[in-house]
Amino acid sequence: MIKAIRGMRDILPPETNRWQWVEAAAREVFELYGYREVRLPLIERTELFARSIGAETDIVAKEMYTFPDRHGDSLTLRPEATASVLRAVLEHGLDKGAGVKKYYTLGPMFRYERPQKGRYRQFYQINCEAYGVDAPELDAEVILLLLDILNRLQLGELRLLVNSLGCRDCQAHFKAALKNFLADKDGLCEDCRRRREANPLRVFDCKSPHCQAILADAPVLKDYLDEACAAHFARVLELLARHGVAYTEQPRLVRGLDYYTRTAFEVVAAGLGAQDAVAGGGRYNGLSRELGGPELPAIGFAIGEDRLLEVLPAALGQGQEFKVFLAALGEAARDRAFSLLQELRGQGLAAEMDFEGRSLKAQMSLADRLGAAYVVILGDRELETGVANLRPMRDFAYIQGEGVRLTEVAGGRMAVQQEEVPLDKLPEVLAQRLLGR
Ligand SMILES: [Zn+2]
Ligand SMILES: [Zn+2]
Repeated sequence: MIKAIRGMRDILPPETNRWQWVEAAAREVFELYGYREVRLPLIERTELFARSIGAETDIVAKEMYTFPDRHGDSLTLRPEATASVLRAVLEHGLDKGAGVKKYYTLGPMFRYERPQKGRYRQFYQINCEAYGVDAPELDAEVILLLLDILNRLQLGELRLLVNSLGCRDCQAHFKAALKNFLADKDGLCEDCRRRREANPLRVFDCKSPHCQAILADAPVLKDYLDEACAAHFARVLELLARHGVAYTEQPRLVRGLDYYTRTAFEVVAAGLGAQDAVAGGGRYNGLSRELGGPELPAIGFAIGEDRLLEVLPAALGQGQEFKVFLAALGEAARDRAFSLLQELRGQGLAAEMDFEGRSLKAQMSLADRLGAAYVVILGDRELETGVANLRPMRDFAYIQGEGVRLTEVAGGRMAVQQEEVPLDKLPEVLAQRLLGR
């Protein structure tokens, strides 16, 4: 048998219910903040990522799925979405006009990382990108939007880490100081020795404990912010504090990509390791120019869906359905049930039946396995009298604001209370019972 590629995985029901639930919650919040969805290709020219993410980053240097197409052009499966969204925004002139231009996108990303628990080579992100405004209010709003999404998902304790990376000028001063600091440090790993020359900021990505120890005394970006960048950051923090957001300033937070400027942030969930942020993002005002576009302030974030699903409480997003199962006995009853099935679905009720002529007992156990709320038993007698038995399989209740929710009766099955309903009234009666209308 052919199996899935190492590091890739299938996401199957009922787990997919939880994914849909998370994505629906995110879409709802995006709407509230005026964001609209874009759907983009998974493959782009390699150059797009090399120029935006940075050649010295781990992503570009080690982790991209890059291959020549049939004409020899170098293509890459997108390792992240920010560069692609900006590419599309510039290509279609979506950056034009007044106000903040707001877009979100959902989908898979690809990185050739060492497979380990919770890390996949095809992983999923929910991405938010906003363009056209450099005001600190937008930074604060984007962070509040992210927290709104995460709080809806009841992820428990979340920590917001923030830093300012300054503008390109601030970064130039800082990099010079950092290079100076690193100049006489022996024992840096080979990667860091290369980074020291090519792009010193990237040494902070190093996971080697030895390099980490050396970097403990390194200069911090915050001390190199000019007045405008410092004021911008102070205003972001003030707005967050005003909205009761607890944040931790993290002076070494640089994110693993070259394009960030000014505000950078990560959200870490208790229950995941410190390295494992569920979301992260920041400003990237310089990226448009790097890609040959106009000056375009920009900010965004990505939520790592795979990791988020790991910390999502087990009870959430299970997506219980209120199925009706038609248990039909005999050819005539099965024939009638087939039509009834479509009538029920026409009423918005999930409905199923058996196509294999099983015994009543086997059909009842199938109904149970499918999680049916009601079973309707149809036989010759029901066809003659035009009245069918309605059998509740579980306790259920209509809960205000949440729709109908199934609640299993403690200790198992509730006492069976059958009732008789005229066949032609079935869709109406079941819609009333299960959908509350
Ligand atoms: Zn600056
Ligand atoms: Zn190192």
